[in-house]
Amino acid sequence: MKANHKDPQIHPMIELRTYKVKNSALDFYCPLCRMERQVSCRVGLSPLNYVQITMVSFVLVTLTFSRMEAIALVWPFLVWASFEIARRLLFKRDVPCPHCGFDATWYKRDVKMARKLVAEFWEKKKSPSPPTKISHPNK
Ligand SMILES: [Zn+2]
Repeated sequence: MKANHKDPQIHPMIELRTYKVKNSALDFYCPLCRMERQVSCRVGLSPLNYVQITMVSFVLVTLTFSRMEAIALVWPFLVWASFEIARRLLFKRDVPCPHCGFDATWYKRDVKMARKLVAEFWEKKKSPSPPTKISHPNK
């Protein structure tokens, strides 16, 4: 369902053009502004990520086993943790709505903080910062 431009429920300051994501992992509608949303990656790791974790861990263990011995077997867990953290950071980066500032991850943890973020988003949108002066290095 596409958002109707004449829909009286949509705030006039909300930009009606949607941001398209190439190869989106999840399509949904923003619960606050009802605009079509997409995120590029899911929270969990994909089967391809597990293959990558296995390969990177194998290389690291092979390279460091002669020096570190049994401690080198910690590498798979470190690589796995770093993949999980990177995946969650990428997901968290994509979740906030570019139209209304609603962040579902904050809403799940702390509703007051989510409201504050939306209010800050609208404050920024109402009073755009003046353009920064960029001086040319040769002048
Ligand atoms: Zn929204």
